[in-house]
This record gives sequence, structure tokens and C-alpha cells, in this order.
Amino acid sequence: NLSNIVKKIYNLFKDYAQTKKIDIILNIQEDVYIYGNEKYISRAIANLIDNAIKFNKENGYIKIDLLENDNKEIILKIEDSGIGIPQEKIDKIFEKFYRVDESRGIYTGSGLGLSLVKAILTQHDTKIEVLSEENIGTTFIITFQKITNL
Ligand code: ATP
Ligand code: MG
Repeated sequence: NLSNIVKKIYNLFKDYAQTKKIDIILNIQEDVYIYGNEKYISRAIANLIDNAIKFNKENGYIKIDLLENDNKEIILKIEDSGIGIPQEKIDKIFEKFYRVDESRGIYTGSGLGLSLVKAILTQHDTKIEVLSEENIGTTFIITFQKITNL
């Protein structure tokens, strides 16, 4: 139950978000189901939300949408109002140990979070897309296949 997974992760992160005065807006229409390893899928989503908080701005927001599209796909969208990623660096962010210029040195991290996200989603035949604009924010869009025979 991906809806429950997302709600659980939201509950784990909401206090951390509050300390940076970041609002998390959850938009979950109904319960949606996918096949997958719950622990790993949870880790992947948590890593994305961790980034969305870390690279956000004070009084910023995070919008999490979980919905089903007309193609029987489940779309999880995580949008933040943070610092964004330069276009020419978007292709690299899923590489191990990559961090967009170390000059943004106020942020801590090892650059492993997104490589794990990519590895987990690849194992689940699931694609992830990134849209970003510097100083405006970043959106990660994950497309899961729905379980239809429940
Ligand atoms: P770790 O996740 O291992 O603690 P990290 O967060 O720096 O470290 P990743 O999660 O792999 O590493 O992300 C790689 C880099 O991509 C980040 O260092 C950051 O430069 C950039 N990045 C990732 N997510 C975002 C985001 N939501 N907004 C802006 N930049 C981002
Ligand atoms: Mg990270």
C-alpha cells in the first residue's frame, strides 16, 4: 500500500521539516497498491524527502502528490521550493558520491542518497524523472506500475 508508506514517511519527517519552517503538503487521493519491497521503496522515498527538506529554503514548501493516471500508472511527485539543480548537472545527481558543487558547502551529505534511489527503482523497473529550475525548486516524478488484479 503505497499510500500508507508515503503517509508513514511524512510522519517521520514532519518535525524535521518544521524546524526549517517548511510546510509539507500531502495530496493522496486514495489507497494505491504496487508490487515491491516495502523497506527499499520506503528508503527511496525517504531519501527524496530528506533532500527536499535539506535543499529547501526557510518558509519553503514540499508538495507530495500520489495519484493514478489514465494509463493505470501510479505517479508519485515530490516537488520542493528549494535551491534547484543546474540543468547541466541534473544527469549526474544519481551517480555515487556526486554532490552539486561542493561550494554549496553548507549542506552535509555523502552524495549516496540518490544513487540508492536509482538502484532501488531500477530493481523495481520503475523510472524517475527530474525537473528543476535554479532558485525555484526541483520535482522528482516516479512512475510505478499499478497492481490491477487486487
Ligand atoms: P546523502 O543523501 O548521501 O546524505 P546528498 O544529499 O548530498 O548526500 P544525494 O541525495 O545523492 O546526496 O544527492 C546528490 C546531490 O544532488 C546533492 O548533493 C545535491 O547537490 C543535489 N540534489 C539532490 N536533491 C536535490 C533537491 N531536491 N534540490 C536541490 N539539489 C538536490
Ligand atoms: Mg540526499
